Amino acid sequence: MISYEEARQFVLTDLAALAPRDVELGDALGMVSAAAVAAREPSPSFPNSAMDGFAIRAADTAGGEVRLGIVDTIFAGDLGSSIVKTGEAARIMTGAPLPDGADSICMREEAVVSDDGGTVLISRPVQAGEYVRLVGDDIIVGQELVGVGEVIGPALLGVLASQGVRSILAHPRPRVGVLSTGNELTDSNDELEVGKIRDANRPSLLASLAGSGFVPVDLGIAGDTARDITEALQHGIRACDAVISTGGVSVGDADFVKSVLADLAGDRARSMQVAIRPGKPFAFAVDSSGVPLFGLAGNPVSTLVGFELFVRPALRRLAGYRELDRPTASAILDCPLPRRRDGKLNLVHVRVRFESDGRLHVKSVSRLGSHLLHAIADANALAMVPDGEGLEPGEEVAAMIMDADQLNGA
Ligand code: AMP
Ligand code: MG
Repeated sequence: MISYEEARQFVLTDLAALAPRDVELGDALGMVSAAAVAAREPSPSFPNSAMDGFAIRAADTAGGEVRLGIVDTIFAGDLGSSIVKTGEAARIMTGAPLPDGADSICMREEAVVSDDGGTVLISRPVQAGEYVRLVGDDIIVGQELVGVGEVIGPALLGVLASQGVRSILAHPRPRVGVLSTGNELTDSNDELEVGKIRDANRPSLLASLAGSGFVPVDLGIAGDTARDITEALQHGIRACDAVISTGGVSVGDADFVKSVLADLAGDRARSMQVAIRPGKPFAFAVDSSGVPLFGLAGNPVSTLVGFELFVRPALRRLAGYRELDRPTASAILDCPLPRRRDGKLNLVHVRVRFESDGRLHVKSVSRLGSHLLHAIADANALAMVPDGEGLEPGEEVAAMIMDADQLNGA
Protein backbone atom coordinates (compact mmCIF):
# COMPACT_ATOMS: atom_id res chain seq x y z
CA MET A 1 0.00 0.00 0.00
CA ILE A 2 1.13 3.55 -0.69
CA SER A 3 -0.04 6.69 1.03
CA TYR A 4 -2.65 9.03 -0.38
CA GLU A 5 0.02 11.74 -0.74
CA GLU A 6 2.31 9.46 -2.74
CA ALA A 7 -0.50 8.40 -5.08
CA ARG A 8 -1.58 11.99 -5.56
CA GLN A 9 2.00 13.01 -6.26
CA PHE A 10 2.32 10.29 -8.88
CA VAL A 11 -0.77 11.65 -10.62
CA LEU A 12 0.15 15.31 -10.49
CA THR A 13 3.81 14.96 -11.47
CA ASP A 14 4.33 16.14 -15.04
CA LEU A 15 0.71 17.18 -15.59
CA ALA A 16 0.65 20.62 -17.17
CA ALA A 17 -2.06 23.08 -18.13
CA LEU A 18 -3.60 22.55 -21.57
CA ALA A 19 -2.26 24.84 -24.29
CA PRO A 20 -4.06 28.19 -24.13
CA ARG A 21 -6.34 29.38 -26.90
CA ASP A 22 -8.49 32.35 -27.73
CA VAL A 23 -11.75 32.15 -25.80
CA GLU A 24 -14.81 34.31 -26.38
CA LEU A 25 -15.58 36.33 -23.27
CA GLY A 26 -19.04 34.77 -23.07
CA ASP A 27 -17.46 31.32 -22.65
CA ALA A 28 -14.68 32.37 -20.30
CA LEU A 29 -16.41 32.26 -16.91
CA GLY A 30 -14.31 30.21 -14.50
CA MET A 31 -11.46 29.72 -16.97
CA VAL A 32 -7.86 30.60 -16.19
CA SER A 33 -6.18 33.42 -18.08
CA ALA A 34 -2.93 32.58 -19.86
CA ALA A 35 -1.92 36.12 -20.78
CA ALA A 36 -2.00 39.46 -19.02
CA VAL A 37 -4.47 42.00 -20.35
CA ALA A 38 -3.74 45.72 -19.96
CA ALA A 39 -6.33 48.48 -19.94
CA ARG A 40 -6.57 50.48 -23.14
CA GLU A 41 -9.00 53.06 -21.78
CA PRO A 42 -9.32 54.77 -18.43
CA SER A 43 -12.47 54.10 -16.47
CA PRO A 44 -14.40 56.27 -16.09
CA SER A 45 -13.28 57.67 -19.43
CA PHE A 46 -14.89 61.09 -18.78
CA PRO A 47 -15.78 62.92 -15.56
CA ASN A 48 -19.42 62.23 -14.73
CA SER A 49 -22.03 62.55 -12.06
CA ALA A 50 -22.45 59.94 -9.32
CA MET A 51 -25.94 61.24 -8.50
CA ASP A 52 -29.08 62.64 -9.98
CA GLY A 53 -28.81 66.31 -9.02
CA PHE A 54 -27.25 69.61 -10.11
CA ALA A 55 -23.84 70.27 -11.57
CA ILE A 56 -22.55 73.44 -9.95
CA ARG A 57 -19.43 75.42 -9.06
CA ALA A 58 -18.62 74.59 -5.43
CA ALA A 59 -17.32 78.11 -4.78
CA ASP A 60 -20.86 79.45 -5.37
CA THR A 61 -22.03 77.62 -2.24
CA ALA A 62 -19.16 78.68 0.03
CA GLY A 63 -21.35 81.16 1.87
CA GLY A 64 -24.09 78.62 2.65
CA GLU A 65 -27.54 79.12 1.13
CA VAL A 66 -27.49 80.15 -2.55
CA ARG A 67 -29.99 80.30 -5.44
CA LEU A 68 -28.66 79.30 -8.88
CA GLY A 69 -30.15 79.66 -12.35
CA ILE A 70 -30.81 76.35 -14.13
CA VAL A 71 -29.22 76.53 -17.59
CA ASP A 72 -29.29 72.98 -18.91
CA THR A 73 -30.46 69.39 -18.39
CA ILE A 74 -27.96 66.64 -19.09
CA PHE A 75 -28.97 62.96 -19.31
CA ALA A 76 -26.67 59.93 -19.29
CA GLY A 77 -25.43 59.49 -22.85
CA ASP A 78 -25.84 63.22 -23.62
CA LEU A 79 -23.17 65.79 -24.14
CA GLY A 80 -24.12 68.98 -22.23
CA SER A 81 -24.45 72.03 -24.44
CA SER A 82 -23.72 74.81 -21.98
CA ILE A 83 -20.90 75.90 -19.76
CA VAL A 84 -21.90 76.32 -16.12
CA LYS A 85 -20.91 79.80 -15.06
CA THR A 86 -20.92 81.42 -11.64
CA GLY A 87 -24.49 81.59 -10.34
CA GLU A 88 -25.63 78.74 -12.59
CA ALA A 89 -26.47 75.05 -12.30
CA ALA A 90 -27.26 72.26 -14.77
CA ARG A 91 -29.69 69.49 -13.98
CA ILE A 92 -27.71 66.27 -14.32
CA MET A 93 -28.49 62.54 -14.14
CA THR A 94 -26.27 59.77 -12.83
CA GLY A 95 -23.61 58.86 -15.37
CA ALA A 96 -24.03 62.05 -17.44
CA PRO A 97 -20.83 63.96 -18.29
CA LEU A 98 -19.93 66.79 -15.96
CA PRO A 99 -20.42 70.00 -17.96
CA ASP A 100 -17.56 72.45 -18.43
CA GLY A 101 -17.41 75.03 -15.67
CA ALA A 102 -18.94 72.74 -13.02
CA ASP A 103 -16.74 71.01 -10.47
CA SER A 104 -19.22 69.29 -8.17
CA ILE A 105 -22.70 67.84 -7.84
CA CYS A 106 -25.42 68.77 -5.36
CA MET A 107 -27.68 65.76 -5.06
CA ARG A 108 -31.33 66.13 -6.06
CA GLU A 109 -32.54 65.36 -2.53
CA GLU A 110 -30.64 68.37 -1.16
CA ALA A 111 -31.80 70.88 -3.77
CA VAL A 112 -35.10 72.78 -3.83
CA VAL A 113 -36.29 73.79 -7.28
CA SER A 114 -38.42 76.93 -7.65
CA ASP A 115 -42.06 76.52 -8.73
CA ASP A 116 -41.33 77.80 -12.23
CA GLY A 117 -38.38 75.39 -12.53
CA GLY A 118 -36.00 78.21 -13.37
CA THR A 119 -33.83 78.22 -10.25
CA VAL A 120 -32.58 75.88 -7.57
CA LEU A 121 -31.90 76.62 -3.90
CA ILE A 122 -28.89 74.93 -2.32
CA SER A 123 -28.60 75.36 1.41
CA ARG A 124 -25.18 74.04 2.38
CA PRO A 125 -21.62 74.46 1.18
CA VAL A 126 -20.74 71.79 -1.38
CA GLN A 127 -17.16 70.53 -1.57
CA ALA A 128 -15.35 70.75 -4.91
CA GLY A 129 -15.41 67.29 -6.45
CA GLU A 130 -18.39 66.13 -4.44
CA TYR A 131 -20.25 63.26 -6.22
CA VAL A 132 -18.02 63.62 -9.26
CA ARG A 133 -16.55 60.41 -10.69
CA LEU A 134 -13.12 61.27 -11.99
CA VAL A 135 -11.36 59.90 -15.07
CA GLY A 136 -9.40 56.79 -14.11
CA ASP A 137 -11.08 56.38 -10.68
CA ASP A 138 -11.32 52.64 -11.28
CA ILE A 139 -8.83 51.91 -14.07
CA ILE A 140 -5.94 53.84 -15.61
CA VAL A 141 -4.55 53.20 -19.09
CA GLY A 142 -1.94 50.45 -19.07
CA GLN A 143 -3.07 49.02 -15.75
CA GLU A 144 -3.08 45.22 -15.62
CA LEU A 145 -6.71 44.12 -15.70
CA VAL A 146 -6.06 40.37 -15.65
CA GLY A 147 -2.87 38.62 -14.69
CA VAL A 148 -1.56 35.28 -15.90
CA GLY A 149 -3.16 32.48 -13.91
CA GLU A 150 -6.11 34.56 -12.77
CA VAL A 151 -9.55 32.96 -12.72
CA ILE A 152 -12.15 34.84 -14.76
CA GLY A 153 -15.06 35.65 -12.46
CA PRO A 154 -18.19 37.61 -13.28
CA ALA A 155 -16.74 40.97 -12.18
CA LEU A 156 -13.54 40.50 -14.19
CA LEU A 157 -15.63 39.47 -17.16
CA GLY A 158 -17.55 42.71 -16.81
CA VAL A 159 -14.31 44.71 -16.60
CA LEU A 160 -13.03 43.13 -19.81
CA ALA A 161 -16.32 43.71 -21.59
CA SER A 162 -16.31 47.35 -20.46
CA GLN A 163 -12.90 47.73 -22.07
CA GLY A 164 -14.14 46.37 -25.38
CA VAL A 165 -12.23 43.10 -24.97
CA ARG A 166 -14.06 40.35 -26.88
CA SER A 167 -11.84 37.35 -26.28
CA ILE A 168 -8.92 36.37 -24.07
CA LEU A 169 -6.13 33.81 -24.14
CA ALA A 170 -7.11 31.14 -21.62
CA HIS A 171 -6.57 27.49 -20.84
CA PRO A 172 -9.49 25.53 -22.30
CA ARG A 173 -11.84 23.53 -20.13
CA PRO A 174 -10.59 19.96 -20.17
CA ARG A 175 -12.82 17.60 -22.16
CA VAL A 176 -13.07 14.50 -20.04
CA GLY A 177 -14.30 11.11 -21.20
CA VAL A 178 -16.11 8.77 -18.82
CA LEU A 179 -16.18 5.03 -19.44
CA SER A 180 -17.92 2.42 -17.32
CA THR A 181 -16.61 -1.12 -17.40
CA GLY A 182 -18.39 -4.28 -16.33
CA ASN A 183 -20.40 -7.10 -17.94
CA GLU A 184 -23.11 -6.52 -15.34
CA LEU A 185 -23.84 -2.96 -16.47
CA THR A 186 -26.75 -1.90 -18.59
CA ASP A 187 -28.26 1.38 -19.72
CA SER A 188 -31.63 -0.25 -20.26
CA ASN A 189 -34.75 0.93 -18.50
CA ASP A 190 -36.41 -2.47 -18.84
CA GLU A 191 -36.82 -4.74 -15.85
CA LEU A 192 -33.37 -5.85 -14.77
CA GLU A 193 -32.29 -9.43 -15.31
CA VAL A 194 -30.86 -10.96 -12.16
CA GLY A 195 -27.18 -10.11 -11.96
CA LYS A 196 -27.44 -6.95 -14.06
CA ILE A 197 -27.33 -3.44 -12.66
CA ARG A 198 -27.89 -0.03 -14.17
CA ASP A 199 -24.87 2.18 -14.53
CA ALA A 200 -24.61 4.70 -11.68
CA ASN A 201 -20.99 5.76 -12.01
CA ARG A 202 -21.07 7.27 -15.46
CA PRO A 203 -24.00 9.62 -14.79
CA SER A 204 -22.60 10.74 -11.45
CA LEU A 205 -19.11 11.30 -12.85
CA LEU A 206 -20.45 13.15 -15.88
CA ALA A 207 -22.40 15.33 -13.46
CA SER A 208 -19.38 15.83 -11.20
CA LEU A 209 -17.37 16.97 -14.21
CA ALA A 210 -20.00 19.43 -15.34
CA GLY A 211 -20.37 20.68 -11.77
CA SER A 212 -16.65 21.45 -11.64
CA GLY A 213 -16.59 23.33 -14.94
CA PHE A 214 -15.14 20.59 -17.16
CA VAL A 215 -16.66 19.28 -20.40
CA PRO A 216 -18.05 15.78 -19.86
CA VAL A 217 -17.85 13.28 -22.71
CA ASP A 218 -19.86 10.06 -22.46
CA LEU A 219 -17.81 7.06 -23.59
CA GLY A 220 -20.48 4.49 -22.73
CA ILE A 221 -20.02 1.04 -21.25
CA ALA A 222 -17.31 -1.49 -22.08
CA GLY A 223 -17.60 -5.18 -21.28
CA ASP A 224 -15.00 -6.95 -19.17
CA THR A 225 -12.59 -7.77 -21.97
CA ALA A 226 -9.20 -6.22 -22.60
CA ARG A 227 -10.21 -5.60 -26.20
CA ASP A 228 -13.45 -3.74 -25.41
CA ILE A 229 -11.75 -1.61 -22.80
CA THR A 230 -8.76 -0.83 -25.04
CA GLU A 231 -11.00 0.26 -27.92
CA ALA A 232 -13.14 2.44 -25.69
CA LEU A 233 -10.13 4.06 -24.06
CA GLN A 234 -8.44 4.66 -27.41
CA HIS A 235 -11.57 6.37 -28.63
CA GLY A 236 -11.56 8.48 -25.47
CA ILE A 237 -7.89 9.37 -25.90
CA ARG A 238 -8.56 10.67 -29.41
CA ALA A 239 -11.60 12.71 -28.37
CA CYS A 240 -10.62 14.00 -24.93
CA ASP A 241 -7.98 15.68 -22.79
CA ALA A 242 -8.39 13.07 -20.04
CA VAL A 243 -10.31 9.84 -19.57
CA ILE A 244 -11.82 8.29 -16.45
CA SER A 245 -12.88 4.66 -16.34
CA THR A 246 -14.56 2.93 -13.45
CA GLY A 247 -14.46 -0.70 -12.44
CA GLY A 248 -11.98 -3.42 -13.23
CA VAL A 249 -8.99 -2.12 -11.27
CA SER A 250 -9.17 -4.54 -8.36
CA VAL A 251 -7.80 -8.07 -8.03
CA GLY A 252 -10.77 -9.95 -9.54
CA ASP A 253 -10.39 -12.32 -12.47
CA ALA A 254 -12.26 -9.91 -14.77
CA ASP A 255 -10.33 -6.79 -13.80
CA PHE A 256 -8.60 -5.83 -17.05
CA VAL A 257 -8.33 -2.05 -16.75
CA LYS A 258 -4.94 -2.15 -15.01
CA SER A 259 -3.27 -4.21 -17.72
CA VAL A 260 -4.89 -2.18 -20.49
CA LEU A 261 -3.61 1.04 -18.95
CA ALA A 262 -0.13 -0.47 -18.62
CA ASP A 263 -0.20 -1.44 -22.31
CA LEU A 264 -1.43 2.00 -23.37
CA ALA A 265 1.04 3.98 -21.30
CA GLY A 266 4.15 1.98 -20.54
CA ASP A 267 6.27 3.57 -17.84
CA ARG A 268 3.76 6.27 -17.00
CA ALA A 269 1.26 3.68 -15.81
CA ARG A 270 0.89 2.53 -12.26
CA SER A 271 -1.57 0.33 -10.55
CA MET A 272 -1.81 1.28 -6.91
CA GLN A 273 -3.17 0.10 -3.62
CA VAL A 274 -3.70 3.38 -1.82
CA ALA A 275 -4.05 3.49 1.96
CA ILE A 276 -7.51 5.04 1.77
CA ARG A 277 -10.97 3.70 2.36
CA PRO A 278 -12.97 3.59 0.20
CA GLY A 279 -11.13 3.66 -3.13
CA LYS A 280 -8.04 1.58 -2.35
CA PRO A 281 -7.46 0.15 -5.84
CA PHE A 282 -6.56 2.92 -8.24
CA ALA A 283 -4.73 2.98 -11.55
CA PHE A 284 -3.27 5.93 -13.36
CA ALA A 285 -1.51 6.26 -16.67
CA VAL A 286 -0.51 8.92 -19.16
CA ASP A 287 -0.75 7.68 -22.73
CA SER A 288 1.90 8.44 -25.34
CA SER A 289 -0.01 11.48 -26.58
CA GLY A 290 -0.06 12.90 -23.05
CA VAL A 291 -3.66 12.12 -22.13
CA PRO A 292 -4.05 11.17 -18.46
CA LEU A 293 -6.14 8.06 -17.81
CA PHE A 294 -7.72 7.39 -14.44
CA GLY A 295 -8.85 3.91 -13.43
CA LEU A 296 -11.20 4.27 -10.48
CA ALA A 297 -12.66 1.46 -8.40
CA GLY A 298 -16.16 0.47 -9.49
CA ASN A 299 -18.13 0.77 -6.29
CA PRO A 300 -20.08 4.00 -6.67
CA VAL A 301 -18.93 5.60 -3.42
CA SER A 302 -15.32 4.64 -4.18
CA THR A 303 -15.70 6.18 -7.62
CA LEU A 304 -16.81 9.51 -6.22
CA VAL A 305 -14.11 9.54 -3.55
CA GLY A 306 -11.49 8.74 -6.19
CA PHE A 307 -12.81 11.55 -8.31
CA GLU A 308 -12.45 14.02 -5.43
CA LEU A 309 -9.02 12.85 -4.28
CA PHE A 310 -7.23 12.21 -7.55
CA VAL A 311 -9.18 13.23 -10.63
CA ARG A 312 -10.53 16.64 -9.78
CA PRO A 313 -7.18 18.12 -8.65
CA ALA A 314 -5.49 16.74 -11.78
CA LEU A 315 -8.16 18.14 -14.07
CA ARG A 316 -7.87 21.51 -12.36
CA ARG A 317 -4.19 21.44 -13.13
CA LEU A 318 -5.00 20.77 -16.82
CA ALA A 319 -7.38 23.72 -16.69
CA GLY A 320 -4.56 25.93 -15.39
CA TYR A 321 -5.77 26.52 -11.83
CA ARG A 322 -3.16 27.21 -9.19
CA GLU A 323 -5.50 26.05 -6.46
CA LEU A 324 -6.19 22.41 -7.09
CA ASP A 325 -8.10 21.42 -3.99
CA ARG A 326 -11.51 21.95 -2.53
CA PRO A 327 -11.47 24.09 0.59
CA THR A 328 -10.84 22.07 3.74
CA ALA A 329 -11.81 23.22 7.20
CA SER A 330 -11.73 21.76 10.66
CA ALA A 331 -15.26 20.82 11.76
CA ILE A 332 -16.57 20.01 15.22
CA LEU A 333 -18.35 16.68 15.50
CA ASP A 334 -21.92 16.90 16.81
CA CYS A 335 -22.21 13.13 16.46
CA PRO A 336 -19.82 10.20 16.73
CA LEU A 337 -17.73 9.30 13.70
CA PRO A 338 -17.07 5.58 14.05
CA ARG A 339 -14.35 3.77 12.15
CA ARG A 340 -12.02 0.88 12.78
CA ARG A 341 -8.25 0.78 12.79
CA ASP A 342 -7.16 -0.40 9.34
CA GLY A 343 -3.99 1.52 8.54
CA LYS A 344 -5.89 3.73 6.11
CA LEU A 345 -7.12 7.27 5.82
CA ASN A 346 -10.91 7.00 5.84
CA LEU A 347 -12.98 9.32 3.70
CA VAL A 348 -16.41 9.60 5.20
CA HIS A 349 -19.28 11.50 3.61
CA VAL A 350 -20.77 13.89 6.13
CA ARG A 351 -23.17 16.77 6.32
CA VAL A 352 -21.61 19.95 7.71
CA ARG A 353 -22.95 23.38 8.42
CA PHE A 354 -22.07 26.58 10.19
CA GLU A 355 -23.56 26.97 13.65
CA SER A 356 -24.17 30.09 15.73
CA ASP A 357 -20.67 29.79 17.26
CA GLY A 358 -19.35 30.66 13.81
CA ARG A 359 -17.76 27.22 13.51
CA LEU A 360 -18.37 24.42 11.07
CA HIS A 361 -20.09 21.40 12.65
CA VAL A 362 -20.55 17.86 11.41
CA LYS A 363 -24.30 17.29 11.79
CA SER A 364 -24.57 13.78 10.43
CA VAL A 365 -22.37 10.97 9.16
CA SER A 366 -23.38 8.76 6.24
CA ARG A 367 -23.67 5.01 6.71
CA LEU A 368 -20.41 3.41 5.62
CA GLY A 369 -20.25 1.05 2.66
CA SER A 370 -18.75 1.68 -0.75
CA HIS A 371 -21.89 0.37 -2.47
CA LEU A 372 -24.28 2.62 -0.48
CA LEU A 373 -24.68 5.46 -2.96
CA HIS A 374 -27.99 6.74 -1.67
CA ALA A 375 -26.55 6.93 1.84
CA ILE A 376 -24.14 9.66 0.74
CA ALA A 377 -26.54 11.51 -1.51
CA ASP A 378 -27.16 14.38 0.93
CA ALA A 379 -23.56 14.78 2.08
CA ASN A 380 -21.85 18.09 1.38
CA ALA A 381 -18.38 17.28 2.68
CA LEU A 382 -15.85 14.51 2.93
CA ALA A 383 -14.40 14.01 6.41
CA MET A 384 -10.77 12.92 6.31
CA VAL A 385 -10.53 10.62 9.29
CA PRO A 386 -7.03 9.49 10.27
CA ASP A 387 -6.42 5.89 11.29
CA GLY A 388 -7.70 5.00 14.74
CA GLU A 389 -10.79 3.96 16.63
CA GLY A 390 -12.99 6.78 15.41
CA LEU A 391 -13.91 10.15 16.83
CA GLU A 392 -16.28 11.27 19.57
CA PRO A 393 -18.68 14.21 19.59
CA GLY A 394 -16.79 17.42 20.39
CA GLU A 395 -13.64 16.26 18.61
CA GLU A 396 -12.57 17.91 15.37
CA VAL A 397 -12.08 16.47 11.94
CA ALA A 398 -10.83 17.92 8.65
CA ALA A 399 -13.71 18.25 6.22
CA MET A 400 -13.29 18.78 2.50
CA ILE A 401 -16.20 20.98 1.45
CA MET A 402 -17.83 19.70 -1.72
CA ASP A 403 -20.82 22.03 -1.80
CA ALA A 404 -20.21 25.44 -0.29
CA ASP A 405 -23.74 26.54 -1.18
CA GLN A 406 -25.18 24.27 1.49
CA LEU A 407 -23.38 25.30 4.64
CA ASN A 408 -26.00 27.52 6.21
CA GLY A 409 -28.33 24.82 7.41
CA ALA A 410 -32.10 24.78 7.13
P1 AMP B 1 -15.24 -3.57 -9.78
O1 AMP B 1 -14.38 -2.40 -9.37
O2 AMP B 1 -15.34 -3.72 -11.25
O3 AMP B 1 -14.76 -4.81 -9.09
O4 AMP B 1 -16.69 -3.28 -9.25
C1 AMP B 1 -16.95 -3.18 -7.87
C2 AMP B 1 -18.43 -3.10 -7.59
O5 AMP B 1 -18.93 -1.90 -8.18
C3 AMP B 1 -19.24 -4.21 -8.20
O6 AMP B 1 -20.28 -4.52 -7.31
C4 AMP B 1 -19.78 -3.63 -9.47
O7 AMP B 1 -20.96 -4.23 -9.91
C5 AMP B 1 -20.03 -2.19 -9.05
N1 AMP B 1 -19.95 -1.29 -10.18
C6 AMP B 1 -18.97 -1.26 -11.11
N2 AMP B 1 -19.22 -0.33 -12.02
C7 AMP B 1 -20.40 0.24 -11.69
C8 AMP B 1 -21.19 1.27 -12.26
N3 AMP B 1 -20.80 1.89 -13.38
N4 AMP B 1 -22.35 1.62 -11.65
C9 AMP B 1 -22.73 0.98 -10.51
N5 AMP B 1 -22.00 0.02 -9.92
C10 AMP B 1 -20.87 -0.36 -10.51
MG1 MG C 1 -16.07 -5.10 -12.54
